[in-house]
Amino acid sequence: MLILLTNDDGIHSAGLQALADEMQSLGRVVVVAPDRERSAVGHALTLHAPLRAEEIQTDRWAVSGTPTDAVNLGIHGLLKEKPALVVSGINKGANMGDDLTYSGTVAAAMEATLMGVPAIAISLASKEFSYDNFRSSAAVARQMAETVLEHGLPADTFINVNVPDSAPQGIRLTRQGKRVYEDAVVQNRDPRGRAYYWIGAGELGFHDLDGTDFHAVQNGYVSVTPLHLDLTNYAAMERLRQWRLEETLLTGDKTGDDS
Ligand code: MN
Repeated sequence: MLILLTNDDGIHSAGLQALADEMQSLGRVVVVAPDRERSAVGHALTLHAPLRAEEIQTDRWAVSGTPTDAVNLGIHGLLKEKPALVVSGINKGANMGDDLTYSGTVAAAMEATLMGVPAIAISLASKEFSYDNFRSSAAVARQMAETVLEHGLPADTFINVNVPDSAPQGIRLTRQGKRVYEDAVVQNRDPRGRAYYWIGAGELGFHDLDGTDFHAVQNGYVSVTPLHLDLTNYAAMERLRQWRLEETLLTGDKTGDDS
């Protein structure tokens, strides 16, 4: 069985190394990952520049692109057969709530899903990222991989896993939580006196609601959230129907309009 691993922290990350070592017991592991840290690039795809892939060791490919590039290139270009599973991580830091749309780790799992390959994104909710610190989350990743391979996943669905810093109490099936965004922009002056801004620097809060990813991890549980790529808000559709958009004439296209 072929398992493709990737991440957004770069091919030399201890989290990816721990994951690769643990996954060996399940089959042939091929790593195709960005050649450097590419966190928070979301689902970016490189369309206007060439990509390079260097096999730095047997079955270890460093790609000069994003996590999404790595998965795309891995499945369509570098691998001779379709992988049975893609696992992305183990990320340095949690990927929960509203943060998911920024995450390169999660986007790599999205890309695999778009290509019809079952996928798991896995992140460690910690601030300490030594190899040893990733070992328990690597064991969680293997267990989740075995479970996904056994049961399969629903169509267009992948799994987002977040592991707490301490020894996990168990597993909680969760939904995506909500961030509390505050005045998180830091403004300062550089040595030449020009203003600069730093976003995402503060400690962000979250709504501590039962059933969410944040709540589970906060209470020492592994959070498992099924995600899908359909961003349609079905509940909002009912409200928008009341706007009668489909009976409305467009106003922008008038002929004889004086400019
Ligand atoms: Mn990362």
